[in-house]
Amino acid sequence: LLIRVAVPVPQLDLLTYGVPDDVPPPPVGARVVVPLGSRVVTGIVVEIAAAEPGGPRIKPIRQLLDPHGCVPPDVVALAQWTADYYAAGVGETIAIVLPPNARGTRADAHKTRRILTITAAGATALTADRTGAPGSAGPDEPARAASDGSALTVKQREALEALSSAPGGVPASELAGRGIAPEVAARLVRKGFVAVHQERVDRDPFAAGSLAPSEQDGRRSLTADQSRALARLSGLAESRRFQVALMHGVTGSGKTEIYLRLAALVRSTGRQALVLVPEIALTPVMAALFRQAFGGRVAIQHSGLSDGERHDQWQRIRGGGIDVVIGTRSAVFAPLANPGLVVVDEEHDGSYKQEESPRYNARDVAIVRGQRAGALVVLGSATPSMESYQHAISGKYERIVLDRRVLDRPLASVTVVNMREEFAAEGPDQVLSRPLQDAIAERVQRREQALVLLNRRGFATAVFCRQCAGTLECPNCSVSLVVHGEGRARRACCHYCNYQMPVPRVCPLCAGPYLEQAGFGTERVEAEVRRLCPGARVGRLDRDAVRRRGALRALLSDFQDGALDVLVGTQMIAKGHDFHRVTLVGVVSADVGLGVADFRASERTFQLLTQVAGRAGRGDRRGEAIIQTLYPGHYSIQLACRQDYAAFFERELQFRRAMAYPPFVSIVNVIVRAPTFAAAVGDAAELAERVRIGTPGALHVLGPAPAPLARLKGEYRAQLLLKGRNRKLMREALRTAVADRPDLARRTVIDVDPLTVL
Ligand code: ADP
Ligand code: ZN
Repeated sequence: LLIRVAVPVPQLDLLTYGVPDDVPPPPVGARVVVPLGSRVVTGIVVEIAAAEPGGPRIKPIRQLLDPHGCVPPDVVALAQWTADYYAAGVGETIAIVLPPNARGTRADAHKTRRILTITAAGATALTADRTGAPGSAGPDEPARAASDGSALTVKQREALEALSSAPGGVPASELAGRGIAPEVAARLVRKGFVAVHQERVDRDPFAAGSLAPSEQDGRRSLTADQSRALARLSGLAESRRFQVALMHGVTGSGKTEIYLRLAALVRSTGRQALVLVPEIALTPVMAALFRQAFGGRVAIQHSGLSDGERHDQWQRIRGGGIDVVIGTRSAVFAPLANPGLVVVDEEHDGSYKQEESPRYNARDVAIVRGQRAGALVVLGSATPSMESYQHAISGKYERIVLDRRVLDRPLASVTVVNMREEFAAEGPDQVLSRPLQDAIAERVQRREQALVLLNRRGFATAVFCRQCAGTLECPNCSVSLVVHGEGRARRACCHYCNYQMPVPRVCPLCAGPYLEQAGFGTERVEAEVRRLCPGARVGRLDRDAVRRRGALRALLSDFQDGALDVLVGTQMIAKGHDFHRVTLVGVVSADVGLGVADFRASERTFQLLTQVAGRAGRGDRRGEAIIQTLYPGHYSIQLACRQDYAAFFERELQFRRAMAYPPFVSIVNVIVRAPTFAAAVGDAAELAERVRIGTPGALHVLGPAPAPLARLKGEYRAQLLLKGRNRKLMREALRTAVADRPDLARRTVIDVDPLTVL
């Protein structure tokens, strides 16, 4: 028997191995240990083939780890589809669907924890203590040393009280969490009042202080919009046929409630729900809501979990003990047996696309998964992607509209501040305009909250020399260095390769002493808000601020709890969060994304502005958004201010049609990397020529041209853009073109359905 195996090594295709006669035939999805060169690796069985007589010499597998299977076969097939569609190796794709820890041969290293229970002696002592028996501390007496052996200190009594009301015992860590020191518990154990035993645990990622939903939601009644949407979607779910529905609901229209009810419906028919969210930070809230409805049968899957946690969750899903999986991108491959509902919340979000191989878009993989499982796929968004909306109006997807907020809360009122006028009046150093300053100060005073968005990290975006006009550039990349920090902590950093240097005092090019900082990022905005509102409690949320593990959760819960008045940040603050006290959203520079040479620049700007404005006024008070821009007339800014999605779509569609971009054609972005500029362009030209010859007239090949990032991490980059209607043709043409040049294949990045062509 021969098997075809995917091993988690980048760029490898399926490898063939033999199965010795004394080993049972492995099922698809089973893990096998196989020799690979001088190494031994764990792979997944993808296909079974009959041995060919007199075929080439094939190595036998070393070990079959799962005689009864491991990854569900349809998930293996989904991974294979993904590798193929996105022109990636099966190797790096299979790595995503493998259970964590699976590469070792021992997959189930379980963790244990210490459970404390009260003993009979402990119960007696507690009763004596409560009734004020001689020798014990009365209820109002302060703590006393337990010198006579049976008396309890206040802390000891607290501990015993806690244990006496928990017949199943309490984990030691939880007691510590209630402020009872380990020594207190240890002393009680020595006295014989408390017993300890070890218990095997599934590492539970929910335990680590999940953000609670801001309201206790009982079973509340749906709004008219919600009822209508739910009725239609329920009908689709019950048909048990594959169908995609685009739920286009304005921010705050209550889409989550519909996901919850659909999931319950699907569960009642014995199937499961898969719920994708774009950001790790959104999983705790979503998971908490689902836990209220589904109890323990909810699992989460994302890369922020430890391997141990991921492993336990994966096994529970695989074992059939789970009704709902909530997770980010890679959760689309969760080992559910029979999903009947696949939800992609904020379907337009760029985080669904992986920017390394395999460059898959989890939204699109989710649709394929739904198709294969006969499931209902619900794409939810207030600002659908051009592609999804196009499908919705053409009838390929069901279109469900929720155009009102729940409880008839109004959408935020939006004001635009023309920064050209501000600069003329206040000087060019103005970061926060007068109206925005006043509005922030007012919120701080009223104990309301404000979000301030600038989609650019750092303190200053460039350092330039007034003498020679040079700017400080990264030695490895064709970008200028960004200043982080102030004063002595100042450093110039590359956002692409992480190169860092102290900010020099003199220009490295002309030795002149006239270096200046230009442009500003979130750090500067944070400093400005602090300067202008001295009493305000200000936090910053961007990738630099959340580098430390746990920092993101801490920031979000501080803001949620009202421990912060103002949260400054990048697009991370615009995502999904439901903060009820936010009545102001400020956008410092709405134009950040517009200047880039990317066909989705307007779409992304519109989405970001609409989403962030949607964060205001989700509680009882009306919200307000203030948008600063240099281009108040630009259609994506104007229409975002009016929150007019349909008008934006029409306008943007004209542009896409005129320029032949998605959704009118499909595109494949190709980057050729090389050690010199000439080699990069030369190789790209050859590649372009081969593709043109291979597909006469069937597709458009644009380029070669220097990539917008012409140099990255020390390598030069040239770019081709393929446009056509047939992705398969484009992939095959590229594959053929590099078939006899493995070195070129390794230096070529192929991005099918790219979200950005930078
Ligand atoms: P969306 O995802 O559409 O932006 P959410 O699902 O976050 O909106 O809902 C917005 C807010 O409205 C949440 O606080 C939610 O708890 C609340 N909500 C949802 N449905 C109802 C309802 N039927 N009645 C009252 N409040 C609701
Ligand atoms: Zn760099």
